[in-house]
This record gives sequence, structure tokens and C-alpha cells, in this order.
Amino acid sequence: MSTRKAEISGALQEVLQRIQRACDLARRSVEEITLIAVTKTFPASDVEILYELGLRNFGENRDQEASLKAPLLPDDAIWHFQGQIQSNKLKSIATWSDVIHSIDQLSHAEKLNSLTSKKDIFIQVGLDQSENRGGVAPENLANLANLVDSINSLSNLNILGLMAVAPLGQEPELAFKRLNEISKKLLTTHPEMAAISAGMSNDFEAAIAHGATHIRIGSQILGVR
Ligand SMILES: *Cc1c(COP(=O)(O)O)cnc(C)c1O
Repeated sequence: MSTRKAEISGALQEVLQRIQRACDLARRSVEEITLIAVTKTFPASDVEILYELGLRNFGENRDQEASLKAPLLPDDAIWHFQGQIQSNKLKSIATWSDVIHSIDQLSHAEKLNSLTSKKDIFIQVGLDQSENRGGVAPENLANLANLVDSINSLSNLNILGLMAVAPLGQEPELAFKRLNEISKKLLTTHPEMAAISAGMSNDFEAAIAHGATHIRIGSQILGVR
């Protein structure tokens, strides 16, 4: 085994154990959790190592970078786009990504719908609107529900659930609890969007405690960027 592979393998085992522990504490099954390895800024050779180690879900933030890496992996790799969307990049993003986590505008959804045959998406919620990191304001649940309804009428898009990033300088625990509450309220009228994409290297245990089904982990597996 190469040094790099041994290094990544060790870090991955540790993350998998922490996921197991967090699931045990939350009385959840690990089967409920999809681990997305966030490979942004890391070379395709690292993604290949993760693939050899059994991972299939990879997350990227930049179209230009991901569009070069994704074709190098076998077809059963599942690529997640989680970065902020620029409308003029959507066409390219649609070609290499399988799941888009960062839809927060109807205009982006409509454009994506016209560019793709089928695409799974998450709707990004901005838990702190002062941060400018994207996401629908969650305060007005009716607005959010309206956006969901409009997107549901687009035949090529399938909404899996809500996505969020914990705001800086806030207890992630509280942020994910709030996200889970929003998700539960929405579920009463939209039972199809049961997934929650939340949790990164520094807060994934809190996300699992509050119902995350998709966790996005980069530096804890691949090292500092
Ligand atoms: C970079 C990024 C991650 C992974 O962050 P780490 O702290 O490296 O685990 C997860 N989600 C989003 C939206 C990101 O931009």
C-alpha cells in the first residue's frame, strides 16, 4: 500500500468509527447515512484511492475542477455538487454531477430541468442569512414550501430533501436541530423529501444526532486543504 493510501485509509477508518458511534448514540442505523467524501482541491489520484477503499460518493464545489476529475473515475461513482451555483455553469455541472445539493432559486431549478434528463437535488437552506453563503431563508416556511411545489412541477428534478451548512460562530448542535425541525414540518406536506444533507468534518456527529442522512466530509479524511 502506498504511503498516501495508508494515510487516507487510516483517516477513513477513524471517520467510519466516529459515524458508527454517533449512530449508536442517536439509536440510528449506519445504513441511514451516506458518507460523501469531499474531494475538492485534492487530486484525482486521491479520489481513486477512496474508490479503491470502497467509497462511491464524492463531493465537489467547483465545476471546472470536478468536470476534469469525474470522468477519470468508474461509472458507478456518484458525484455531488455542493458549491454555490453560477447560472452559466449549470450546463456543465449537469453533465458530471449526479446530485446537486445547493439549489436555492427557482430560476436555477428551471434551467437545470431544461438541461438534464433526470437529476436528484437538495434545496439549500441558509440558516444565517447574514452570511451570504447561499440558501433559502427558512423563517418563512410557506415560501420554502412554495419553492418545493414549484420545483416538484419540473418533471426532471427529484427533490431528496434539505441541505445546510452550520453557520460560523454558532453551536452546530442548535443549527442542525433547527434544520431537523424545518425538515419535519415540511415532511408533513411533502413526505417525499426525507433526506437531510448536513454535517462536515467538524460537526458531523451533531448532524447525525439531528437526523442527517448525507454527511459531507473532506479534511477529516484527506487532510487540510
Ligand atoms: C468543503 C465543504 C465540505 C467539507 O468540509 P470539511 O470541513 O473539509 O469536511 C462540506 N460541505 C460543503 C458545502 C463544503 O463546501
